[in-house]
Amino acid sequence: MSPSKISIATLGSHTALQILKGAKDEGFKTVLVCLKSRLSLYGRFKKLIDEIVVVDSFAETASSEVQDKLLSLNAILIPHGSLIEYTDLETIEKRFKVPIFGNKYILRWEADRNLKERLLREAGARTPRVYTNIDEVDGVVIVKLPGAKGGRGYFLASKPSDVRKKLEELKISEDHVFVQEYILGVTSYIHFFYSPLTSELELISMDRRYETNADGLGRLPAHIQVETSPDLSFLVVGNIPIVLRESLLEEVFRIGEGLVEASKKLIPPGFIGPFCIEGAYDGEGKFYVFEFSARIVAGTNIYIYGSPYTWLIYDEPMSMGKRIAREIKRACEEGKLDLLIT
Ligand code: ATP
Repeated sequence: MSPSKISIATLGSHTALQILKGAKDEGFKTVLVCLKSRLSLYGRFKKLIDEIVVVDSFAETASSEVQDKLLSLNAILIPHGSLIEYTDLETIEKRFKVPIFGNKYILRWEADRNLKERLLREAGARTPRVYTNIDEVDGVVIVKLPGAKGGRGYFLASKPSDVRKKLEELKISEDHVFVQEYILGVTSYIHFFYSPLTSELELISMDRRYETNADGLGRLPAHIQVETSPDLSFLVVGNIPIVLRESLLEEVFRIGEGLVEASKKLIPPGFIGPFCIEGAYDGEGKFYVFEFSARIVAGTNIYIYGSPYTWLIYDEPMSMGKRIAREIKRACEEGKLDLLIT
């Protein structure tokens, strides 16, 4: 099928601008599912958008009206964090008629902590210790609350009694939290692209998240921290670039390859396109993975004009959004679109 017959669609949020720009650069028509309240924002970038489907809420993307409209435009929907946040997974798996770029069945594995742990273990990634028994807490732990979005409400503690005291204050049962070893070090979020067309894993870029107020706390002198004991928050407000020491790249690729293989085994056909491993380097330089995302992440927004790593391979500005569009274009030309969509 000719790429000119296909539209690339996404929701107006998260990484929409680079997805639209990348699609345009590769010669596709573009469709934006846009909240009424954000029309003026995206109107500022109207040259990137051929069609707008206006909705009152992103949950409406699942409605037969929006689905039929997207189908009539021959759209492929690029999923990102906002699709997952505002549409429930069962709906995406069972009710979406429009083809989704990537393996939509992995999205459940990124959302469910137990499935996530299983995939990371299968991949052979080093993960922080998980405490199933709070009495065993013997160092700094991060307590992750059920359904928290973007780390909201997570707290740190270093003794079983402190974990329990805080949970009592929050009126949350011990059975519903995930208590994990806290890795004191440098957080790094590594963005990969796996191409089913070439069976190759590409390192696209990496970032650090700027999280409030965890990243602000270090500016307070210790005595003020003790006096005021501020509640911690990991709400992401932006992303900052990082490059790793070159000697660390080999391990990063090993973890990425491990995840690709594990995903093929557990959720065939496995990862398709962008995914991200999220972790931290401890004081000995060991990388611990505490999360992965099975789709484009917002940290790639730093690199709309390409990253140091894509420059090495492409000799042209290559964003994650453009890389997705390039893959779809190639699949269209080779008659292999089925390998990229679910
Ligand atoms: P998102 O969906 O936005 O990725 P989330 O709710 O899944 O968020 P996490 O990514 O697990 O939350 O954690 C949020 C933040 O908490 C991380 O970006 C990191 O700064 C911190 N964090 C989480 N787990 C650990 C850990 N084990 N050690 C150190 N820091 C951690």
